[in-house]
Amino acid sequence: MYEKERQNLVNQIAERGIDDIYVLKAFSEVERHLFIPEALLSHAYKDVALPIGYGQTISQPYTVAYMTQALKVKTDSKILEIGTGSGYQAAILYKMGAKVYSIERQFEIYNKTRKLFDKLEIRVNTKYGDGTIGWAEFAPYDGILVTAGSPSIPASLKKQLEIGGRLVIPVGDKISQKLKIVTKIAQDEFEVVDVPEFVFVPLIGKEGWKQE
Ligand code: SAH
Repeated sequence: MYEKERQNLVNQIAERGIDDIYVLKAFSEVERHLFIPEALLSHAYKDVALPIGYGQTISQPYTVAYMTQALKVKTDSKILEIGTGSGYQAAILYKMGAKVYSIERQFEIYNKTRKLFDKLEIRVNTKYGDGTIGWAEFAPYDGILVTAGSPSIPASLKKQLEIGGRLVIPVGDKISQKLKIVTKIAQDEFEVVDVPEFVFVPLIGKEGWKQE
């Protein structure tokens, strides 16, 4: 279903500069319409963020593609995602052959997406809790992807990164964020590249925004 719409979306994100063929291949295979509320089906393959309930969103496809490309995912890379949300980003990473660990702090969303993963046979390790402190049990990770905007880079996430690994995280105020691509060069040594102007829902937790 929606083959043509999906291919159009892949072409659009390629035109906007995504050139990692493995990212583009995953986008042509993962069916975004399965990750959004039924009422929004006709918008599934537009390059826009969509509401998924509980004040949360499924990120814009271009943003998902950009962040995934920045991670430089390889087959068998161990990737930690903070903010499972709809599960779409995790499904893309899984499709690329990564071992995916994903944390969600909102119980209803966690539950719903866990069930969806089971139904679609997407084998992602999920956890309900505060992702700002990471998931120490399975650390270190080759890549960490934060899909909600944070006031700063949580120290726990830097710590749980493998040397040579990358952390991709939106940092800024609650209105707009810069994407930071953080590479761990050595223990306690990081290189940071900033990419301007993305918009994300807030990352709420111990090392993120405090709950209002
Ligand atoms: N990756 C998701 C994007 C969801 S939006 C997708 O592909 O659809 C960001 C998600 O981060 C929301 O579901 C929100 O509840 C969650 N979130 C916010 N703060 C969090 C935290 N501290 N730990 C885990 N999840 C968090």
